[in-house]
Order: sequence, then structure tokens, then C-alpha cells
Amino acid sequence: MPIALEALAVEASTCTRCALAVGRTQVVFGVGDPHADLLFVGEGPGAEEDRQGLPFVGRSGQLLDRLMLEEMGLTRDRVYIANVVKCRPPDNRDPLPPEIAACRPYLERQIELIEPKVVVTLGKFAGQLLLNSTVGITKLRGQQYPFGRAVLIPTLHPAYALRGGAEPLAHMRADFVRAKLALAAA
Ligand code: URA
Repeated sequence: MPIALEALAVEASTCTRCALAVGRTQVVFGVGDPHADLLFVGEGPGAEEDRQGLPFVGRSGQLLDRLMLEEMGLTRDRVYIANVVKCRPPDNRDPLPPEIAACRPYLERQIELIEPKVVVTLGKFAGQLLLNSTVGITKLRGQQYPFGRAVLIPTLHPAYALRGGAEPLAHMRADFVRAKLALAAA
């Protein structure tokens, strides 16, 4: 990892900026190519991520890996994967506004350091945070947005697609193809 990103990960590893610090096993900072053109941003670690210290290693992660490979021909070592909050919310509840606000500078610095060309947000929290929007994710998705020098493509959360059947999965596939085209154009 480049020094600045490594230093940020070390700083985050002992973070106590919000109450999630109390219940975590470890901070889940992010994983992947620190110079990736493509950054995925999820919501926050679940139980398995909290145990392993890595993002998207449970069932949602398996779907993410599958869609990445099938729709974009990419494996996770070629991209970077991070979350809105770096510590597991208890009982997998939604992250709260003060937790998101406390963790936001880590994500913003990750984006500055990685300099992705395409950012794919997974689910409502990442999409709304990075687009500074309150629009629901089903309305936000389906298009791409300017995001600094990058483009941002909001899609659904894989956990939602796992629960929701064919339609959400088809939407995610379409969004991943959109991201692939954006990468090719970048
Ligand atoms: N869901 C997320 O949003 N992030 C993870 O890292 C795992 C599951």
C-alpha cells in the first residue's frame, strides 16, 4: 500500500470517533489495488467482515465478486473496495447519521488517494452520501453522475439483490455494465 494510504489505515485501526468503536472486533478499512481505476463503496462491515477485517467477504461479497467477473471481467485485486463506515454496526443495523459523519473523512481521503476514475456505490447509504442526496436508491440508480474528475454510478446493495430476486439482480447487472463502459471511456 502506498505510504499515505497505509498511514490512513493505521490511523483508522485505532479510531474512536464514534460509538461503533466499542462493538467492533477490528476496523475494516478497505482492500484492493490502491491505484485502482474502479472503487466500490458499500455500507459497512457485517459479522464476517468484522471477523476477517476485510470488506465484502460474506454472502454479499460473493455476489459482488460474481457480478464483477461476469459483467466486467474483473477480480477484486484489480479494484478497491471500501465502505461508508469502517466498523460493524451492532446486529447489522443501518449506520446512524453521526457514525456516517464521523467516518466520512476516511472515505473522502481514500478517494483522494486512490483517485479512481469510476466509483460504484452499493446501496442507499453510499450513494446518498457521495452524491449528497436524499433521493431513494431505486431512483438514483440507472444513470451516471459527475463526481469530481470521476464518474459515479450508484447501484443497489448486493444484500438487497440477494433478498429481492430477479429484478434487482438485473438492475445491478445493468449498472455494472454501465460502470464497465465508463471505465473504458475514462
Ligand atoms: N455489506 C457492506 O455494505 N459492506 C461490507 O463490507 C459487507 C457487507
